[in-house]
Amino acid sequence: MTTALGRPPALSILLVGDDPASQVYVRNKERAGGEAGLAVTIHRLPSTAAVDDVLALVTALNGDDRCDGILVQSPLPRAMGKDASERVFDAIAPEKDVDGFHPVNVGRLVQGRSSMPPCTPTGVIELLRRDGGEIAGKHAVVIGRSDIVGKPMALLLLQRDATVTICHSRTKDLAAVVSRGDIVVSAIGRPGFVTADMIKPGAVVVDVGTTPVSDRSVVAQLFGADSPRLATIDRKGSTVVGDVHPGVLEVASAVSPVPGGVGPLTIAMLLKNTLAAARARTGL
Ligand code: NAP
Repeated sequence: MTTALGRPPALSILLVGDDPASQVYVRNKERAGGEAGLAVTIHRLPSTAAVDDVLALVTALNGDDRCDGILVQSPLPRAMGKDASERVFDAIAPEKDVDGFHPVNVGRLVQGRSSMPPCTPTGVIELLRRDGGEIAGKHAVVIGRSDIVGKPMALLLLQRDATVTICHSRTKDLAAVVSRGDIVVSAIGRPGFVTADMIKPGAVVVDVGTTPVSDRSVVAQLFGADSPRLATIDRKGSTVVGDVHPGVLEVASAVSPVPGGVGPLTIAMLLKNTLAAARARTGL
């Protein structure tokens, strides 16, 4: 692709503010992109930037022929206001929207003809395809209904012929609903929320949740007083914990780890979307 294009496929990442988790995510994307041979450029804006500053940068990148993919790292600073993300995602040219959040790409996803599917749910599908067995005919329970994970996740599972149930904070008797799932995908951001008693024996469990936890007692309670994660807290100040309680390993047939499961696949799908965007734009 690089030879045909005369340059590597190019991804522009906009990072606004100094959220520590976002800094890490962006660094990981930059590193993975570089290793895969993409040109990744980070555009940093201060936390005091206005939405219009971000929109101006997005507009410039939309018109830049040497930019194939644009990603705006979430979350944007709270000070930008409630509708900032929506305005910014709406401004990205759909053919460069490698996160798949633009309404045009969301609409295509709903119709099952997406060329830019959102990275995290597609990463989960890839994980299930490789290690989770058949999806068709299974009962899949998705916990969480956000626009970026829960909803597209449910659609992708439906398109692969699963029978899908979506749970959220108002779901009644959530444990009973989850316990009917042959596949359970949790994306809520509550450490250890999904416990063994909620899981059907032999179910496949995918943990999307990533919550930095700095409280040693929470970690010791979840993973034991001798967990190496306590040393991680001492070293880094926190450890990233998923939604799925470690006890689920005793009941499920497979559980994706956090960190190391969905996260790396999300990045892999981002690189795939960037390549697809470069191909589609240039016709190569
Ligand atoms: P979000 O926008 O905050 O949505 C959370 C969802 O969880 C909401 O639908 C909420 O329900 C539901 N929820 C919260 N508490 C609940 C409870 N007690 N019972 C049932 N449902 C509950 O979060 P998100 O952006 O989807 O992210 C979810 C998690 O995935 C976070 O930990 C995030 O860091 C992680 N994530 C990881 C990756 C990755 O690459 N690994 C990528 C994206 C996100 P309501 O709608 O009713 O409020």
